[in-house]
Amino acid sequence: MKALIIGAGGVAGVVVHKCVQNSAVFSEICIASRTKSKCDALKAALDGRGTKITTAQIDADNVPALTAFIRAERPDLVINVALPYQDLTIMDACLAAGVSYLDTANYEHPDTAKFEYKWQWAYREKFRAAGLTAILGCGFDPGATGVFSAYALKHHFDEINFIDILDCNGGDHGYPFATNFNPEINIREVTAKGSYIENGEWVETEPMEIKRSYNFSQIGGKDIYLLHHEELESLALNIKGIKRIRFFMTFSQNYLTHLKCLENVGMTAIKPIMYEGREIVPLQFLKAVLPDPASLGPRTVGKTNIGCIFTGVKDGAEKTCYIYNVCDHQECYKEVGSQAISYTTGVPAMIGAKLLLEGKWKKAGVYNVEEFDPDPFMDDLGKYGLPWVVDDKPVTVD
Ligand code: NDP
Repeated sequence: MKALIIGAGGVAGVVVHKCVQNSAVFSEICIASRTKSKCDALKAALDGRGTKITTAQIDADNVPALTAFIRAERPDLVINVALPYQDLTIMDACLAAGVSYLDTANYEHPDTAKFEYKWQWAYREKFRAAGLTAILGCGFDPGATGVFSAYALKHHFDEINFIDILDCNGGDHGYPFATNFNPEINIREVTAKGSYIENGEWVETEPMEIKRSYNFSQIGGKDIYLLHHEELESLALNIKGIKRIRFFMTFSQNYLTHLKCLENVGMTAIKPIMYEGREIVPLQFLKAVLPDPASLGPRTVGKTNIGCIFTGVKDGAEKTCYIYNVCDHQECYKEVGSQAISYTTGVPAMIGAKLLLEGKWKKAGVYNVEEFDPDPFMDDLGKYGLPWVVDDKPVTVD
């Protein structure tokens, strides 16, 4: 079967490697992105391993051109690993060309640093009527975290009342300051207000206002900060019994000090300013001077630990369980030439695409990952490089 992969950055590189490792399903892929040389470099590295690879230059913001391109390529699925800004244009082109869709990040408007599912959920009826599948947020978080939730509900609980998603990056790239995925998207996310859902309501916090510490398996003690994150919105609706759901991410003091300084001088602003007679967006300029996340692979050492702590009820008794994955940056680099952040995103994207193509995750409409059967995904996660652990007696976050 044929997948069209849009984007050729850090995550796309992993998706391409993983599809080629699965040439029985992905007999053909086309890598299409804004900068064709990046697509060609991936092809040159992976040609001749069983998957036919072609490349193309495409602007995914241009719906008519993208629709014509998809019609000409005739893929069975489009995997969107460009940026969240392209989600709606790629969904529009998929609908027009009659092809199913998968992405790893929620739509965001370039001018407003706020992601919400309402834009993409508004496509439900259109995909249903067209008999096409759209799978949203199939990376690690969102992605594996949603599948962990569905799996916990299916096998460990009758209802889940509390979920804490913990995202720990214990890696060190040796730079004073760099981001592990697209700097613009990353900085927009961490400078925004925090929020969580309690009793069906969003509770908003100042950025980094809520801080805790947690001792992560294979990494050790880290400070964690509460952030707004997209899967909170869908999990609160899709997982039975939710009373509270929160998302925490680790940041080092060094990272936060740099970020505060950049914020204070206006470098993280997304509103355009005039510079030497032309408009520039400070955050986009900052992205241009920061290290490319795709270049961090060789120099990043250490591990990530990402998972969910669930508290709920089973057979009338309260119980807690923690499902997580630990991933080693250098092991990822040896296997696919990238660090663990891109790896932990790209592997679930390939698995979601594989399950869709195999018909196991195929239903007409727009879905978040927790709306599918978690079992085949969990089986594949271990098989394709992200083994997971179930801890029945975890320490919880207060
Ligand atoms: P990169 O910036 O490394 O790559 C993005 C790619 O998209 C680049 O190749 C870029 O082209 C291409 N692109 C951007 N705009 C267009 C356009 N208009 N038309 C065609 N191609 C375009 O980002 P990452 O690989 O780090 O991230 C990819 C996605 O994964 C993002 O949406 C990110 O939010 C998501 N993500 C999800 C995670 C999860 O766990 N769910 C975790 C980490 C990331 P060019 O090379 O020219 O810049």
